[in-house]
Amino acid sequence: MQCFVFFGIQGSGKGTQAELLSENLNYQHINIGDLFREQVLRQTDLGLQVQDIISRGELVPDSLVFEIVDSSLLPERQGIVFDGFPRTLVQAEYLVEHFQVRQVFFLELAEAVAIRRISSRRICNSCGENYNLESDPPRQDDVCDKCGGELVIRNDDKPEAISRRLTEFYEQTLALKEFFASRDLLSEIDASQDVEEVAAAIRKAIGSLLN
Ligand SMILES: [Zn+2]
Repeated sequence: MQCFVFFGIQGSGKGTQAELLSENLNYQHINIGDLFREQVLRQTDLGLQVQDIISRGELVPDSLVFEIVDSSLLPERQGIVFDGFPRTLVQAEYLVEHFQVRQVFFLELAEAVAIRRISSRRICNSCGENYNLESDPPRQDDVCDKCGGELVIRNDDKPEAISRRLTEFYEQTLALKEFFASRDLLSEIDASQDVEEVAAAIRKAIGSLLN
């Protein structure tokens, strides 16, 4: 199974870009963070296990990540765009053993810019819809357009959790970049540009695949 991978700090727009690419290629989009949040909202056994971990802003253990990746694969998929996976070297090794990795996109963004972007995010505490106060605001302050629920800041978007996550991310990123660069799979993309420009840079890096 072919796959593309996106990684970058929170706020780098990797979710948006992964979604765009998966639509273009008709691939399955797997966002690990969303899958875990879904389990938490449904209060499954897995969800209860990860609830504490996520609320502390820590990373979910590899074994739980593999479990949810395997259980989320759709049989009719033509390929996969991974978003938020892999985060560790163990996960990267799992990825190259189980999938044919076509390209890994690292979205580069300065920490200060990322923190500014993240602090404008809100999520509906009833239906889970995402908003951004700057780029995608609700019609009415603090109220979900879809269900009327209350908009809140996700626990892992709170300042203490952000700085913990960024520290963990930077500790692990260098190793991941080296891992994929040594396999000639790494493309570094400037994520400070707007969505269209970043998407264009990704299409260019992929080249003939999208033509
Ligand atoms: Zn809602």
